[in-house]
Amino acid sequence: MIKHIYADNAATTKLDIEAFEAMKPYLLENYANPSQPYSLGRKMKKAIREAREIIAECIGAEPEDIYFTSGGTESDNWAIKNYCCKNDIKTIITSSIEHHAILNACDSISNEAEIKYLPVDNYGFVKVEDLSNAFIVKDRAVTPFESKLVSIMMANNEIGTVQNVSELSSIAHSNGAIFHTDAVQAVGHIDINVKEMGIDMLSASAHKFNGPKGIGFLYSGNKLMCPFHNGGTQELGMRAGTENVPAIIGMSVALKKCCANMQKNIRKLCELENVFLETLKNTNIDFVRNGADKHLPGLVSVSFRGMSGELLLHRLDLMGICISTGSACDSVNTQVSHVLKAINLKDEYAVGTIRVSFGVNNTTSDAVEVANAIIRVAKENNK
Ligand code: PLP
Repeated sequence: MIKHIYADNAATTKLDIEAFEAMKPYLLENYANPSQPYSLGRKMKKAIREAREIIAECIGAEPEDIYFTSGGTESDNWAIKNYCCKNDIKTIITSSIEHHAILNACDSISNEAEIKYLPVDNYGFVKVEDLSNAFIVKDRAVTPFESKLVSIMMANNEIGTVQNVSELSSIAHSNGAIFHTDAVQAVGHIDINVKEMGIDMLSASAHKFNGPKGIGFLYSGNKLMCPFHNGGTQELGMRAGTENVPAIIGMSVALKKCCANMQKNIRKLCELENVFLETLKNTNIDFVRNGADKHLPGLVSVSFRGMSGELLLHRLDLMGICISTGSACDSVNTQVSHVLKAINLKDEYAVGTIRVSFGVNNTTSDAVEVANAIIRVAKENNK
């Protein structure tokens, strides 16, 4: 059997074994509906309450401000569209490098709200001055009660840049806006304290931190205005429907473990990045690393001049290695992603972009093997 090296942890991660073990009883034995008043039902409700407390503690929040969702996409959509329940003029300021869960959610309400997309610099940072300037409205009067939302991702999924969230949220607040961050790539991987960082809403997804798929949460420190959907009284009536108890439990166990081991994990992932990059640098292959020094541990976006990221992905796949590309290819065109365009990466590098994202299950020899496989393909490509 072909041995696989999984180096695409920004796409999804392996379920943590302790999270899996914690979920099992809730799949097979403790399956009662948490809304039922008998003791088995009450037991489920208690388990949900405890999971909510664990998750809140991991991000410095209050338990009652955590709403369980089906994952990052739902949390992002809820945060953006929640704002449209208000009837006054709305402005949403976001960045040009957001995940499509934010970009397409904004697009879907562009008839109701004015959407402004901030540029980023070559490292992927949103500039504080650009955010300040976005609040200046030239051609219409601003009403004192006008609602404004700023949504800027904490860590980018393609290049890993981690934004200066505290500075951005402070500008948002001084201009009377609510601050949301898509922290899907960041939660469980870097330190987050929503209160200290001035975050009003935050999106997260369990499968990015070794939790189960199909579960996530939205933190909202302000009262949510708009239920995600309507029905029963679950999630304070804001997200009706019988709770996915096993997944909620699995998510809380996985997040608690990631947070407890965070510094150790960061050291390990930085070491894997270094080994990978040093192995590549020991050759004469022409490549650049994208993103900033302040980045997600273990996420390496590299662009190889004159190569195709798509070709690299498929050649590495044949060697049992899973990575992802930085460009999307159809049968006619290779399209450079909106993120690589936004950081102004030259085309001859952009089409040769791949994202290698190491996780806690990777080893040093994985990092060397992935780099050596890339070197092999690059040498064949240059023949
Ligand atoms: N936001 C970011 C930054 C992501 O990377 C992803 C997934 O890759 C999402 C949102 C969507 O999350 P989910 O797959 O849980 O819906």
